[in-house]
Amino acid sequence: MDILVYTIANKGALTKASAEALTLGYQLATNNSGTLISLAIGDNLSNAAAECGQYGAQKVYVAEHESLKYFQLESYLDIFDQVLARQHPYLILFPLEPSTRDIAAALAAKKNAPIINDCIGLSIDDSRIIAWRAVYGGKVHAQINIPQLPAFITMRANSVALAANPVQAEIVKIDVPTPLAATILKLKAINPTVTTRPSLTEARIIVAGGRGIKSPENYRLIEQLADSLGAATGASRSIVDAGWVSQVHQVGQTGKTVAPDLYIACGISGAMQHLAGISSAKCIVAINIDAEAPIFRVANYGIIGDLFEVIPALIEELRRHA
Ligand SMILES: Cc1cc2nc3c(=O)[nH]c(=O)nc-3n(C[C@H](O)[C@H](O)[C@H](O)COP(=O)(O)OP(=O)(O)OC[C@H]3O[C@@H](n4cnc5c(N)ncnc54)[C@H](O)[C@@H]3O)c2cc1C
Repeated sequence: MDILVYTIANKGALTKASAEALTLGYQLATNNSGTLISLAIGDNLSNAAAECGQYGAQKVYVAEHESLKYFQLESYLDIFDQVLARQHPYLILFPLEPSTRDIAAALAAKKNAPIINDCIGLSIDDSRIIAWRAVYGGKVHAQINIPQLPAFITMRANSVALAANPVQAEIVKIDVPTPLAATILKLKAINPTVTTRPSLTEARIIVAGGRGIKSPENYRLIEQLADSLGAATGASRSIVDAGWVSQVHQVGQTGKTVAPDLYIACGISGAMQHLAGISSAKCIVAINIDAEAPIFRVANYGIIGDLFEVIPALIEELRRHA
């Protein structure tokens, strides 16, 4: 059973979520006498394409052109059409992000095929293909029988343990249509968020703030502690909804699922929707003024105290030991 994984590169390197999708694709393909194929679209892809072989992709399709630097649905679909005309994978996996939600949905509609979004796992059992999704804030894992093949699946980041499976990959360059497919959307400007901090879904350490920070200016305390630790910054939904920080920082059921070695929750109560995003964190430290806050039920270490005293003390201590 051949499996195609769409991969994404960031600054030339394969994203962790793409490597996870490849890891899963490799396990399913090899257990079912199939081949793992990958596809990358964008610019500056040579390193990422080579990395796909490290995660078991035997054939790596690459559509590389500077005009593909930014996601454009119609052009990306053209390229998918070329690959799907040559290969006939049973499953097409995508690391979940806003662009892949669009591509997977458009392809599923075009092919009249099923799509299952935000999966945390896939298994093949007596030739039944089953997708797993976390529902009710991660309290229940729903099992979905995939009714027909091929099927399009988007995978939640940090759901699969990475495993390298190096193979000799064949790199296949795809002709990029010029001009690109006409699009009804006109790109006026790209304003990328400039940050030196690691990305939330790939960070080893995350410092996150919640409503306990009291006002938007105080998020700088979270940023200062994060910078002392080389960490990414996260947020609860309440402060995102309040407009204190951008949604890209939101952790939880309707935000990002993270899997850091260390997660420091500052002034976050620990609602189940927030906890749904941090269940894979190896060590959780909670700073909260309320000893009864639910976050302490899942925290490995708890500091009952005022974050406005605890965070500056932690930063000072880290500075002294730097
Ligand atoms: C469908 C749905 C989806 C949702 N998705 C998400 C999601 O993805 N992510 C998410 O986070 N939430 C999500 N929520 C919202 C969630 O239910 C909670 O409302 C939210 O997580 C609470 O955020 P909070 O912990 O920052 O605020 P609060 O619950 O108000 O907690 C603030 C905490 O700060 C503490 N505190 C106050 N002052 C201090 C101080 N000086 N020092 C230390 N601690 C202090 C308080 O004791 C309290 O525990 C969702 C809700 C719904 C219904």
